[in-house]
Amino acid sequence: MRLILLGPPGSGKGTQAQRLVHRYGIVQLSTGEMLRAAVAAQTPIGLKAKDIMAGGGLVPDDIVVGIISDRLDEPDMVKGFILDGFPRTVPQAQALDDLLKKKHIKLDAVIELRVNESALLARVETRVAEMIARGEEVRVDDTPEVLSKRLASYRSLTEPLIHYYSERRKLLTVDGMMTIEHVTREIHRILAAIGAMDAKSVKKARGEAPTRVVKAGRPVKKTAKRAGKAGKPVPKRAKKSGRTTGPGSKAKAIEGSKKFAKKPPKKRAKA
Ligand code: ADP
Repeated sequence: MRLILLGPPGSGKGTQAQRLVHRYGIVQLSTGEMLRAAVAAQTPIGLKAKDIMAGGGLVPDDIVVGIISDRLDEPDMVKGFILDGFPRTVPQAQALDDLLKKKHIKLDAVIELRVNESALLARVETRVAEMIARGEEVRVDDTPEVLSKRLASYRSLTEPLIHYYSERRKLLTVDGMMTIEHVTREIHRILAAIGAMDAKSVKKARGEAPTRVVKAGRPVKKTAKRAGKAGKPVPKRAKKSGRTTGPGSKAKAIEGSKKFAKKPPKKRAKA
């Protein structure tokens, strides 16, 4: 499974990415984390990025694209990945498209966590308080002033990616204002609906025991539709893009998903 998580600071990308990593054994690629590690290790990239990050600006595209390109060549990428914090601009998205094409990797979906901006400051304040309580070092860019700069940068530079991926029929929007648990369940549900998860993962996500269907010595793949019949029904596709999922809009879960609905579940990375 190869995914991008999209959402403003405080939308829960990191939390949900971690949960996806645990559930599916895919790798989280967080450019923020990679850059923070480079800053801590005082590498040449870290020295360039340090002040930009502290001020809430964006590190130049060539640097982050280079980091991601190198990381995609690592052997653990065959497990699948979740990109968190990248791409952050349309040029980065175009660069990623080129990289994936060159490396023969196909993206399954882009998950947008949609949240009310008014809630973000409070969320980040809670994150800071929790980090202090755990005795962890607080991020230098988690101050109200820098956060408002990060948000402004999200609005002007990153939000256009919603349109970019919606046009390419890759976008799935989830209501990020629900509880953490609920958001996770919603993500699993829409991934199952588009067939990005194999049948075993669908069952695991629902807490059901896996059943092995074996025919002529080989496990038989189930399509998302058949997996849906076996348990919770898979929702109908939405006809239009720009929809948000949530408890009150289950049937509207998927955007631009004509292609998705017909696609059988993938098991292996091509890379
Ligand atoms: P956030 O919680 O704001 O999403 P991240 O941990 O993803 O924060 O990133 C922290 C900082 O690292 C950003 O404010 C930015 O300076 C830098 N950064 C991370 N990813 C990118 C990227 N794709 N392009 C440019 N800068 C980035």
